[in-house]
Amino acid sequence: MTQVCGRFAPSPTGSLHLGNLRTALIAWLSARGQAGSFILRCEDLDRVTSSPRWTIEQQADLSAIGIDWDGPVVNQSERFDRYNQAIDQLADHGRVYPCFCSRRDVAAAVSAPHGSPGRYPGTCKTLTTLQRIERQRQGRPPALRLDSHNLPVEFVDRYAGHQVGLADDVVVRRNDGVPAYNLAVVVDDAAQGVSEVVRGDDLLPSTATQIVIGSLLDLPIPTFVHVPMAVSRAGERLAKRHGSVTLADLATSGRSPVDVLRTLAISMGIDNPQAVSAADLLHRFDVGTIPRHPWIPDLSDD
Ligand code: GLU
Repeated sequence: MTQVCGRFAPSPTGSLHLGNLRTALIAWLSARGQAGSFILRCEDLDRVTSSPRWTIEQQADLSAIGIDWDGPVVNQSERFDRYNQAIDQLADHGRVYPCFCSRRDVAAAVSAPHGSPGRYPGTCKTLTTLQRIERQRQGRPPALRLDSHNLPVEFVDRYAGHQVGLADDVVVRRNDGVPAYNLAVVVDDAAQGVSEVVRGDDLLPSTATQIVIGSLLDLPIPTFVHVPMAVSRAGERLAKRHGSVTLADLATSGRSPVDVLRTLAISMGIDNPQAVSAADLLHRFDVGTIPRHPWIPDLSDD
């Protein structure tokens, strides 16, 4: 049997909050619990929003709760050649097309009576060559989109169970030339030998598309484990504005990384954890005991 390889792949655009730390811990416990390797990848495709400052802080926070990783951290910003090769491969299969839509165009089309929110409405898919030349002349450089054929994809998620999703025509190269997340993540998981992708279930809807991209590139498809996210009391995705959500915030109210680790363990269905480090939870961890609903951390300051 081949060794499991898990990963955590944060974007260095801010501090990790409790929800990110919990997902990282689940990913680590799952991989290490199967005697697997674990890698950390820095998803810094967007040079404008990413900063090495956050990479350093994120790594320190992961280490503080006992999460370790194997080998050097790969930076996506150093791998554009590899992503561009993959985009060329998709183009060779005739599976990309230029898209001249702005965000606003897409938003307007999906809010039309028969639009599907969150999915590309296909506006530029059927442009004729002449129309493409005309749009190009208007000066807005095109992004490149996957021609996904909107394929239905079935897969079994190790936490969320049997899934049927529809692939979407996602952007694979932005109109400023930067390769896009959905392409890079697939290329990198395969290149790094990742066999198990544990992440927040906000990415469950993107998985069908990522499986289609992987299949078109002839890459191995990892096992997926999408776990519930952390949310505020109001049910919003957890964010800085909700209060003490980072290790640094929590330290100021007297909660140590060990306290946070225990809180995370309890949120994952582990009663009375005596842990002082992530490794102490290995024998108690079971992905099946993670509650089936979003986690609402207690953010009161006492
Ligand atoms: N970089 C993504 C994020 O920070 C995670 C991507 C993934 O796990 O596939 O949300």
